[in-house]
Amino acid sequence: MPTIAEVYQGLTGKPPPHGGEQPVADWVADSRLVRAGAAFVAVPGEQTDGHNYIGEALARGAVVVIAERARFAPTETPATVVDVAAPDVDALTPPVVFLVDESLHAVQELAAWWRARANPALRVVGVTGSVGKTTVKELTAAVLAQRFRTFKSRGNYNSDIGLPLTLLTMPLDTERAVLEMAMTRRGEIARLAEIARPHVGIVTNVEPVHLERLGSIEAIAAAKAELVEALPPDGVAILNGDNEWVRAMRDKAPCRVFTYGLSPDNDLWASDIVSHGLEGISFRFHYGDETVFARLPLLGRHSVHGALAAASVGLLEGQPWSEIIGAWRKLAQMERLRIVVVPGVNGSTLIDDTYNASPPSVLAALNLLADLNGRKVAVLGDMLELGEYERKGHELVGIRAAEVADLLVTVGPRAHLIADAARSAGMPPDRIIEVEDRQEAIARLREVLQPGDMVLVKASRGIRLDEVVNALAVSP
Ligand code: ATP
Ligand code: MG
Repeated sequence: MPTIAEVYQGLTGKPPPHGGEQPVADWVADSRLVRAGAAFVAVPGEQTDGHNYIGEALARGAVVVIAERARFAPTETPATVVDVAAPDVDALTPPVVFLVDESLHAVQELAAWWRARANPALRVVGVTGSVGKTTVKELTAAVLAQRFRTFKSRGNYNSDIGLPLTLLTMPLDTERAVLEMAMTRRGEIARLAEIARPHVGIVTNVEPVHLERLGSIEAIAAAKAELVEALPPDGVAILNGDNEWVRAMRDKAPCRVFTYGLSPDNDLWASDIVSHGLEGISFRFHYGDETVFARLPLLGRHSVHGALAAASVGLLEGQPWSEIIGAWRKLAQMERLRIVVVPGVNGSTLIDDTYNASPPSVLAALNLLADLNGRKVAVLGDMLELGEYERKGHELVGIRAAEVADLLVTVGPRAHLIADAARSAGMPPDRIIEVEDRQEAIARLREVLQPGDMVLVKASRGIRLDEVVNALAVSP
C-alpha cells in the first residue's frame, strides 16, 4: 500500500516533500470504517456528502483525507492541507488533507497510478456478471493463491469507488490479483478496466437484474461486454457458454476465448452434478481428454458454474488439477461464501442467504432447498431494483416456490407477487403466509416452525431479513 508520500506523488505528479513515510493502512469512503492509519475519501453521495464526516474520520485517526476543494471546510483537528493543483507544503506531517477537483476521479487516477507501479509480472483477473461475481472471485483467488502471491478485492468492493479503494491496498509485489467489477451504467466497467488493466476477464452471466438502472437486458449485456473488449491481445476472455448473452461476447473479444459450461462444446465442462444438501456438491470436470472428480463445500448445484470459472483460470495458468481442487478444500473451513447454516427455534435449521437476492439467485437457492430432507420452508422477501422485470421476476420465484416449498412465507409488499404466483400455480393457500414486515415474520415463524424444518431465508439486502435469522437463531 502506498505511503503518504506516495499518495502525494501519485496525486500531484511531483516529488514529495519531507516526511510521510508511513504506509496508509486502509482506504475507505465510509467514515464509520476509518481506523487509525487509514485514508478517508470524501465523496459527495446521493444521500449524504462524505465531506460532512471529515472531522469524524480525522478523530478516528485517518492519516490521509481526499476531499473536494469546493466542499472542504477546515476541521478542528489540525491537518497539513495540500492543494494538489498548487502544492506548497514543506513537510507531510500527518494527517494530510489532499484537495482535489473531484474525489472520485482523483482516487481512480491514484489507483491506476498504483496499479502501473506494480510488479511487471502482475496479472489481473477481472470478474463481472449479473450474479455470482463474489463467489467466483473467492474461488479463483483460492486457486491462484496455491501458487502465486495473490490479492483479491475486499468483500464486495466492486464499484467505481470500491475497486479503486481496494486496489490501493494491493501490495506491489502481488503476482495475481482477482478483482470484482460491477456497474450501474454504460462505460463504468470500461473505466474500471482502464484502472485495473485486467489480463483475464471472466463474465459469469447476464440476467435481468438491476434492470431498473440499465433499462434492458441488451444494455446490461453491452455494459458487461466492456470487460471483454478491454482485454489485451495476449489476454483471455473466460466466458460462461451456458448463457446466450455471454456466449455472444466471443465475437467482441480481441483475444483468446475460453468457454465453460455444462455441455461438451465448451473448453471446460462439467457433468454428473450431485447436490449433497448442506454438505456441498460433487461433479466431474472434463477438459480435453481429462476427467476429474471434484467435491465442493459450496451449496447448491448452481455453484458448479463458479467452480468452472475458477478452474478455467487455474488451467490457463498451467496449474494441475490437484492444486485447483485442493484450493477449495480449504474453503470448507472458511465461511461458506455467504450462505450460513445455523440452528433455529423449535428444532429447525436456518439457511441464511440474506446477503442479497435477485430472481436467478433465489431460484438457485430454492433448488438447494429442493435437495434437502425435512419440511421445506421458504421465507422470501422483496427483490429490489428489478425495474420493469419486477412483476415477472417475483412471479417466476413464486412458481418455483410452489414446486419446492412445503410452506411459503413472504415478507414485504413486492413479495405478495411471489405468494400470488404460488397460489396460481396450485400451492394450497393454507401453506402460504404473507406478512408485511420482519417483526410479523419473526412472530409467525416462532409459531409455525417445527423440528426438522429446513428454513431458507432470502431477500434483497435492503429488506434486512438477516434480522429475522438473528431473532430465530438459537445457540447450538
Ligand atoms: P453483487 O452484485 O451483490 O456483488 P455478486 O454478483 O457478487 O452479487 P454473489 O454475491 O457471488 O454475487 O452471489 C449472489 C447470490 O447469487 C448468492 O445468493 C449466490 O448463492 C447466488 N449465486 C451465485 N452464483 C450463482 C449462479 N451462477 N446462478 C445463480 N445464483 C448464483
Ligand atoms: Mg459481489
